[in-house]
Amino acid sequence: MIHIIMFGPPGAGKGTQAKLLKDKFNFAYIATGDMFRNHIQNETELGKLAKSYIDKGDLVPDEVTIRMLKNEMNINPDVDGIIFDGFPRTIAQAEALEEFLAESKRGIDAVFALEVPDEVLIQRILNRGKTSGRSDDTDKNTVIKRLKKYKEVTEPLKKYYQEKQILHRINGLQSIEEVHREIAGILNELTP
Ligand code: AMP
Repeated sequence: MIHIIMFGPPGAGKGTQAKLLKDKFNFAYIATGDMFRNHIQNETELGKLAKSYIDKGDLVPDEVTIRMLKNEMNINPDVDGIIFDGFPRTIAQAEALEEFLAESKRGIDAVFALEVPDEVLIQRILNRGKTSGRSDDTDKNTVIKRLKKYKEVTEPLKKYYQEKQILHRINGLQSIEEVHREIAGILNELTP
């Protein structure tokens, strides 16, 4: 059972890559953004709370996000690993995940950091917004705020994982297939 993180700013291609890896390696896929959007669609209390942050381009508070993630991880599907997409986004979330995995003597095996320049990210997100139905993808100011938040609170995690020697930096300007091949190559070395 291995645990990997798709890391990077909004629009870097984390979801696209995670979905390709999920099928190829028989992994479970946990995307906190998707989970929040499901709650919003189902109009749950958590959904209402999350929406108030998401629409402004802010992060949902750690405590709420961590609790939701732990609940999801208690569902144990028969898989060979788990891919996290969009989690962790803060040091506190990374520490909580580590503690949680340590309870079952597990840890994070690899973090794939997709690197893409800001101008390209903004363009990609606004394009996605034309079809995604995501309100946080359509307004340029919200998109810029999300990128700013990423730089302030999420990007420091790169150093955190680099120090643990599990960070793999990937050029996210390559084609979808090239990025996939690069990540799959590294995972092939990690999986038995
Ligand atoms: P995403 O689909 O990953 O781009 O996430 C969409 C939005 O959901 C983010 O802009 C945040 O407001 C919220 N969100 C998703 N994951 C997290 C997380 N790990 N921590 C806090 N907020 C999150």
